[in-house]
Amino acid sequence: MRRLALLSFHGCPVARLGEKDTGGMNVYVLQIAQELARRGLVVDVYTRRHDPNDPQVVELSEGARVVHVEAGPLDTTKESLSGYIPEFLGALDSFQQSEGVAYALIHSHYWLSGRVGAVLSERWKIPHVVTFHTLAKTKLRARAGEREPLARLTAEGKIGSSADAVVVSTTDERDDLTRLYGVPPGRVHVVGAGVDLALFQPMDRDTARRKLGLRAGRIILYVGRIEPLKGLEILVRSLPLMEDLEDTRLLVVGGVLGRDTELDRLKSVAAQMGVADKVTFVGLVKQEALPAYYSAADVFALPSYYESFGLVALEAMACGTPVVASRVGGLKSFIKNGETGYLIPWQCPEPFAQQMGILLENPSLRDQMGKAARAEAVKMGWGSVAVNMADFYASLLDRPVESLAGA
Ligand code: UDP
Repeated sequence: MRRLALLSFHGCPVARLGEKDTGGMNVYVLQIAQELARRGLVVDVYTRRHDPNDPQVVELSEGARVVHVEAGPLDTTKESLSGYIPEFLGALDSFQQSEGVAYALIHSHYWLSGRVGAVLSERWKIPHVVTFHTLAKTKLRARAGEREPLARLTAEGKIGSSADAVVVSTTDERDDLTRLYGVPPGRVHVVGAGVDLALFQPMDRDTARRKLGLRAGRIILYVGRIEPLKGLEILVRSLPLMEDLEDTRLLVVGGVLGRDTELDRLKSVAAQMGVADKVTFVGLVKQEALPAYYSAADVFALPSYYESFGLVALEAMACGTPVVASRVGGLKSFIKNGETGYLIPWQCPEPFAQQMGILLENPSLRDQMGKAARAEAVKMGWGSVAVNMADFYASLLDRPVESLAGA
């Protein structure tokens, strides 16, 4: 049997990216579903209906589809979502029965889906794989001021220990699962994340700038959700410390302009620091338009307190832009310090200003690192991630991957 159920309760693969709760996980689920389908598997991704305009079933590509399941009000907050798990379970079960489909394996994404997957794997008598994407305990340790519900802390430990396997993106995450949650190491399997190499390709810098209507000068870029955990305030505070600030600009892509309190807070920090005119808040940008931003930038900066993987950094690298990032989580696994960018062990403005300055002031170093960054990224397409994932599913089902794909 070659049909898989991917559960992504609140991370719809076709949602608009870069809002408060839509980012890397949505991209991961979309890419992995499509790439597994390209390799002959049939993939159904179940997610909660969140947009009245979405049809119940969306075909992603041949063999991969998204099924929107009714569970709770469309605009409910992430905090109240766990209350709608029973509804999600019921609606998913009836869809599955009405279609008469059976699955070989469930792979759930995030702890909320993990709770659904745990019930369904017992009911359907099939293996359950879970990927948490972020871990509450790691997040709480990473930055003072983070809050997470107790239910999540408990659920991650319980699901991690009872699932047939936990797939993580990095060895750091594996270590956290064993050290902080007591999940047996043998249950945890590392499969890295990837980048869409067809989309993220280098463009000529001047062409990219013209396309975006950007002036000449030195451009530092940030892309991602706008939340305190991403450390954007560090970046804003690093600006007054830069030499040649006159000619330097920070572009912040992500967040919804006019309805995002964290964006407003960052704007006032920029004003307090006297750099309001040096920061441009661009708002959300469709992923298809991001290669131009990455290519237009001289440096990509990611000062996060916690990053379980950090897809944006890999996307920037695939576009040939060096990255200055915090030395945390997934970023350590693919950024080579001094070769493809710089990893900073402190979440404070001075070292960011310093390392970004080195790249901005040395065009030849920047170009050399940009080329090395691209060379690293091309090894990490989603296609190879899917091959590793399919191999892992096959090992769990105790069947060769060919039979998984062809049965
Ligand atoms: N993204 C986007 N448009 C935006 C902001 C972000 O398409 O305006 C995408 C970006 O390309 C990346 C994802 O959102 O693939 C963010 O993933 P990442 O792993 O960097 O961060 P997370 O959301 O998981 O914290």
